[in-house]
Amino acid sequence: MTPEEIRSIRLFWSLRRRRYWNMCRLKYFLHYYAAVLGRREFPDPLYAEARELDRCISSLSLTRIMICNALHDLFERGSCRSVAQEAEECFRKAVWRMQKYPDSVRYIVPEILRGDGGTVERLADGIRRAGEKVDETFWHSIQKIPSASRRRVERPQIVHFLELACYFVPVLTFSHSGEIWILESSAVNEDGDLLSCLHRMWVANALGRDPTRVRSLYLDENYDLKQLADLPSASAALAGIKKDLDAMLEAEMLGCVTVRDFPPSPGKGCQSCQFRSYCLKNGHIGS
Ligand code: SF4
Repeated sequence: MTPEEIRSIRLFWSLRRRRYWNMCRLKYFLHYYAAVLGRREFPDPLYAEARELDRCISSLSLTRIMICNALHDLFERGSCRSVAQEAEECFRKAVWRMQKYPDSVRYIVPEILRGDGGTVERLADGIRRAGEKVDETFWHSIQKIPSASRRRVERPQIVHFLELACYFVPVLTFSHSGEIWILESSAVNEDGDLLSCLHRMWVANALGRDPTRVRSLYLDENYDLKQLADLPSASAALAGIKKDLDAMLEAEMLGCVTVRDFPPSPGKGCQSCQFRSYCLKNGHIGS
């Protein structure tokens, strides 16, 4: 990868990027560099392969995307429709697009394309049940938020730190009891304080509101609404983000970056990794 190619890929921070960086440098490289260049015209075969593999998502990821999209769209439309219905409908449209245009859609679920007949109905059932959980637990309360308290937000949102972009992905944002509530799309609370820090910076910079009056939420893997880890120290959180960015930038500055500069770290994450077949083929992991 030439210095020009590296420069053409913008460095940014996000919680996912931090996770990939800490989990496996090869996964990080394939997702944030190789797959990006793989979307260009006439890519190197490695980059084209990385792009194809990177489009493959698991049924669990698809379920979360459908639930978060349904929540976001219903909330912004001010609709009282159930999340279960909306998410299932979105899912069926996504399946139709996946089957009709498999080469051009943003993501694919390989098991849907393999099409063993019952797969689509099984996944639709899982999405419906996740949506029903959201409907029963908190969607009715959220619907009562008046439209004047709702904020339309693009996804993702950017906070600038040291002139570099830091991303977070809000599903819903609204004012309630003098606070700004932000529901994040992430499923886990790991490093949640870093996200809480970004939320507060965004509330202060973009909304001009008191950053100490922010409530950061997420939906856990069971679709229960939880509060993200609080922010014990904003300076410690920012130092953590800066440490990541310095290390990631240093990896770029080493010159002509190649795949060999980003060694694999096999572990329990390999089982669900989108690049598993690449690593099997190249002997990085065993079957
Ligand atoms: S399969 Fe394992 S070793 Fe290979 S990129 Fe994914 S996490 Fe890394």
